[in-house]
Amino acid sequence: MRTNRRQFLKAASAAALLPMPAIAQGAGQKVVVIGGGFAGASAARFIKKGNPQIDVTLVEASPTFTACPFSNLVIGGLRDLRAQQFGYDKIRAAGVTVVIQPATGVDAQAKSITLANGTKLSYDRMVMAPGIDLRWDGLPGYTEQAAEIMPHAWKAGEQTLLLRNQLESMADGGTVVISAPANPFRCPPGPYERASLIAHYLKTKKPKSKVIILDAKDAFSKQRAFQQAWQQLYPDHLEWVSLSKGGKVNSVDASTKTLKTDFSDVKADVANIVPPQRAAAIAQTAGVADRTGWCPIDPVTLESKLVPNIHVVGDAGIMGAMPKSAFSANSQAKVCAAAVTALLAGRTPLEPRLINTCYSVVAPDYGITVAGVYRPKDGVLADVEGAGGVSPLDAPRENRALEAEFADGWFKTITGEVFG
Ligand SMILES: Cc1cc2nc3c(=O)[nH]c(=O)nc-3n(C[C@H](O)[C@H](O)[C@H](O)COP(=O)(O)OP(=O)(O)OC[C@H]3O[C@@H](n4cnc5c(N)ncnc54)[C@H](O)[C@@H]3O)c2cc1C
Repeated sequence: MRTNRRQFLKAASAAALLPMPAIAQGAGQKVVVIGGGFAGASAARFIKKGNPQIDVTLVEASPTFTACPFSNLVIGGLRDLRAQQFGYDKIRAAGVTVVIQPATGVDAQAKSITLANGTKLSYDRMVMAPGIDLRWDGLPGYTEQAAEIMPHAWKAGEQTLLLRNQLESMADGGTVVISAPANPFRCPPGPYERASLIAHYLKTKKPKSKVIILDAKDAFSKQRAFQQAWQQLYPDHLEWVSLSKGGKVNSVDASTKTLKTDFSDVKADVANIVPPQRAAAIAQTAGVADRTGWCPIDPVTLESKLVPNIHVVGDAGIMGAMPKSAFSANSQAKVCAAAVTALLAGRTPLEPRLINTCYSVVAPDYGITVAGVYRPKDGVLADVEGAGGVSPLDAPRENRALEAEFADGWFKTITGEVFG
């Protein structure tokens, strides 16, 4: 199960009292990767694969990784959380040293990382891949305590189960309210996939109930394809309120499960708050995040624009046109691995092309997709025009069913490549 912030701090302070275990680092070139999610675990594996002589250490806070992709199916009652969980044994077997400890400090001058138990690791190049933190100062009323009542479920694990359990306990006739944030945030289609799968649950198990999305935006990923699916599948069970229709949530009150907008106070039976986000704390500590809270990178090497010898991959980075997705994170990790091995060998990294595909499951037999190709341009990762696209509107239902199967195949493939 994923570690929440309180558990993380408790583990960090308890660990500080223990004697420091030594972590063997060889005499060769060293790369340390912080964060063993889709980005970091991929980067560690591909750097080791690219040059087995490099001493690669992966630092991860939790012994079990719980994947967010497909966690909306858990919330919709269509999947077990255990199908989302992965360990690090295969990554160890691939020759990567895996250290289960939170990283707490980075000394970029000395090229050294401090772990919660006091151990120090040195690096020639570091890969920063810690994912996101929720901004607890980003939505008035939404605190860590409030998240126990109005879950975010935007980091998979206990929060996913909390939201699922609340839906199960809700009486038929209840209202589920999802608050979707402004861009940028992890998984742009995620709130809409979640609303769809909650609507599917309500339609099949609690037909007098309804889900409402209160949105801080007027437009969202795969919007037309989602809206067409909602019209076909959930006309009575799902409502989307855009920014211009007063959808932006300005504050929440957990004691009454109320979401306040400019126009009304919306009382929920189950409230799912997806708050504003930023790169996870260690990225802020290391100085690789800028004032936006995210990390600017060079689009060819994915090296930080702020701190040399630290590369940033995955959700923590400012990746231009690339959305914050597991597919993108894995794609960036491969490009970063090639750049890191080239730079350590004294070679110039090649200009990359990156790809992303985001599948959304709207119902068990109904999938939609957005795909893109990206390249460095004017200092950022830009769309390659004419490449990629969205699932066509008015496609036959067989195509939607096939896309749902492709989504399943994608999840198996990516988790197999990263953790298997
Ligand atoms: C509901 C939902 C649905 C989604 N669906 C999809 C989908 O269908 N397809 C898709 O491509 N993407 C999807 N995503 C997005 C995807 O989950 C993220 O984009 C992806 O996980 C980003 O990978 P990452 O490695 O940057 O971060 P993460 O996967 O979050 O990994 C970060 C890791 O770093 C670790 N860490 C953090 N701080 C420290 C520290 N100080 N020390 C050590 N370790 C640390 C964390 O424990 C974690 O394991 C979804 C997300 C959500 C929330």
